[in-house]
Formats: sequence, C-alpha cells, structure tokens
Amino acid sequence: MRRAGGSPSSLDLLVSGRLYIGGSLVEAAVGVEDGKVVWVGKPSLAPPAEERIEAGDGVVVLPGMVDMHVHMRDLGESDKEDWFTGTLSALAGGVTFVADMPNNVPPMRSVEDLELKEAEAARKAVVDYGFYLGFPRDVGELARAAEFGVVGMKLYPRDLLEEALAAVLREAARLDLPVVVHAEDPLILRAAEAALTKDVVLHGKLRPPEAEAQAVRTLSYLAASLGFRLHVTHVSSLEALRAVAAAKAAAKVTADTAIHYLCLDEGAVGRLGGIAKVNPPLRSRRDVEALRLAIRSGLLDAVVTDHAPHRREEKLSEAYDAIPPGFPGLELCLPLLVTLIAEGALLLRALDLYSSAPARLLAVPKGEIAVGRDADLVLLNVRERWRVRGDELRSKAKYTPFEGFEVRGRVAKVFVRGTLAYDGGELLVEKGFGRRYSPARGEGGALG
Ligand SMILES: [Zn+2]
Repeated sequence: MRRAGGSPSSLDLLVSGRLYIGGSLVEAAVGVEDGKVVWVGKPSLAPPAEERIEAGDGVVVLPGMVDMHVHMRDLGESDKEDWFTGTLSALAGGVTFVADMPNNVPPMRSVEDLELKEAEAARKAVVDYGFYLGFPRDVGELARAAEFGVVGMKLYPRDLLEEALAAVLREAARLDLPVVVHAEDPLILRAAEAALTKDVVLHGKLRPPEAEAQAVRTLSYLAASLGFRLHVTHVSSLEALRAVAAAKAAAKVTADTAIHYLCLDEGAVGRLGGIAKVNPPLRSRRDVEALRLAIRSGLLDAVVTDHAPHRREEKLSEAYDAIPPGFPGLELCLPLLVTLIAEGALLLRALDLYSSAPARLLAVPKGEIAVGRDADLVLLNVRERWRVRGDELRSKAKYTPFEGFEVRGRVAKVFVRGTLAYDGGELLVEKGFGRRYSPARGEGGALG
C-alpha cells in the first residue's frame, strides 16, 4: 500500500534477482506500487523503494502461477475441500489465481448458484479466483452469468447430449465466452461400459482414447460452425492431440493438459488403484511422451492441475462406480513442472503454460512479471529437492498419486498483489484476502 507520508517517487516494494521474464531467467528487478507491477528493469537503475527484497543464490522469481482448472468444492462438499484449504494449497504451490469448476453441490447453473459460491469464497480464499458457469438452467442465464463476470462456461460429457446444446453454444459465441470442455464422447463411454467389467484396473479401457478424440472432433465441428471459443481441457492421449491439431487448423481452438498426464502412466492405476483413478484415465507411456512433445512444440496452450480432492475412503472404495475421479494437485504442479524442465523433458518456456498463457485465455491481469499486471510473485528455491508426502498436503485430501516422488523447487515466498501472503510455509494474510476476478476482455484492462 502507498503510505500517505511516503515519498511520491518511492516504490512500495522492489524485488531483485533472477526473474522469469519473456521465457527466460534474467538478472532484473521488479518494482511494485499499489499491488501492481509499475517498473521492470536492471537492478542498478531501480528507483528507491520502501522495502527491498533480494532473491538469494539458488532462488528464482517467477510470476504467480495461474491454474485455469481446479475444484475448490465447499458448499455441499466442504468435507472434501473448502475455499480456505483449497486456496492455501494453491498458495503453497506458488499459484495465485485459480479458476473454479461448476460441478458443485449444488451445480452452478445460474447466477443465484454462483452467488452461493461467492459467499463462501469471499470469506475464505487466500488467493485470487474466478468462476465457471456450468450448463445453464436456460439459455438466457448465459448473458446474466457473463454480466456477473464468469471466466467461461464448462461442459461435461453428459452436456453434449443436452437438447439446448446448440442454442447455448450459439449464445456463448455471441457473448464471446470461452467454452471449456471435458471431451469424452458420452455414447462411446456408454458402449465401453456395456461391453466391459467395471473394474478400476480396466479404467483406461472403460474410457478409451477414441472417446476423447471423438468428442474433440464433434466440438471442433460445432466451434467452426457456431463460432464459439472452444477450449479442450485435460487432453490425455495422442489420439485427442491429433484431433486438437486438426481442430486448430479449422477454428479458434485452444487446449490444455493436466500435470498428471505429463508425469504418470496407466501403471499408476495398477500400483495405487482408486487413488490414481481420474477422468480421462492415465494413459500409456506413448501418450505421456506425445503430450510432452505437444508442449515443447507449442500445440498445447496451458497446463492445469484439475485439482480434484475427494475423501480418502471414497478413493479406496471397492466398487468401481463408488470411486470418484481425481486427486489434489495444486501444491505439486509447479515443482513437478520444474522437475520436468530440469530433466530436459520440457523447455523452460513451459512455465508460460501455467502462468501467462492461461491468464491471457481468461483475460485476467496475472501470470507475467510485466508493467500493469498484478504484482503476484513467487520466490522459488530451485536447488531444494524434496520428497512428496500426501499427509503433508494443505489440501483436505491427504493422498496423491505422486507419493514418494522426488521433486525440485520449493516455494519460499509468495506475493499476491504486492502483499507477502506466504513465507517459509507460513500464511501471512487473513482468510478472505483473495478477490474474485472477471475477465477484462476487450476493455484493454487485463492485458495492460
Ligand atoms: Zn475437473
């Protein structure tokens, strides 16, 4: 905050060291005033500042990470996660903005539903956030939700069978609202379920890559003919990547993958059973390599966690249908990315896919150390190696398919809008510090 008596030419905060700017690490300094980045340049040219922080040896300064696909639960599922534990998890993982999915109890199908979520988030969140609308109660609800400020609409496989689908997508096009799709063709899933035994070891066959590829083809056809902005989330397979590549040639289509598809293969389901059950399923090593290549080559536009906490008892259920898909990921995604980069599987620029790229897709002023953006900064100790332990997670879900993984990079400090929110494992802001963001699309505000 700018103090009334402070010198008018002095910044609130100056952070210097090795900064991640424009896809590489450079010796630089970033100046902060009123929660915004107001100056970036050589440390020797830096203006005076009331507080100065120097990132020491082995520490890099990154923009706050942006996760465009998380499930904070709360409301009727606060036993799984709530807006405090979920956003604390984010903070510990160097994530300063999360976009929350609408499959809540109750589901987010109207502005009234979103207001219920807003009431919980506003008093508990410790990082900033945005909301998606689910399949709307009626077509008119989309315009109200856009006015409310949702970052997009999310479609699930079953929504592809809705009678109002075309009308809803046409309205999304008119409102320029991004449509984020969980692409798995519901009819192919149904056929696979009818033909196979429902057993978690067959999860990959019960939800085959062809279901994913087919849904991408259907949606991209609709995107090209109706003109809405299609974003395919958590692409898991080579087949779906091929469909995404074809779709990009025909329409304005973007796509992401989730961190687990870049690190884990179907072997995890054999080892861990329901803990590793996720939709779409973990695939073969061939798919993992294809996804890494798709990131290196620029085919994919973002990386997400799909942070999806559930109760441990549910994840350990015997019956296939009783095991809910997903697991927590917010605390691990950045260290896992840094580890993949250190191992040479991804390029340094892959960090953009978890920061500036999703921020641009959602039109929020985050994810980049640049003048006009929020001063969300992460000091990451890249020398530190540590072993993942589920019971140490801040999430209510104290298990992970990454149990025992050795990763690199420990989040040391996190600034959110210029305020030191997290330091050495300690939370320094009050519950409710987080703010909801609406897209600033077309107003020139978000991108400065
Ligand atoms: Zn999800």
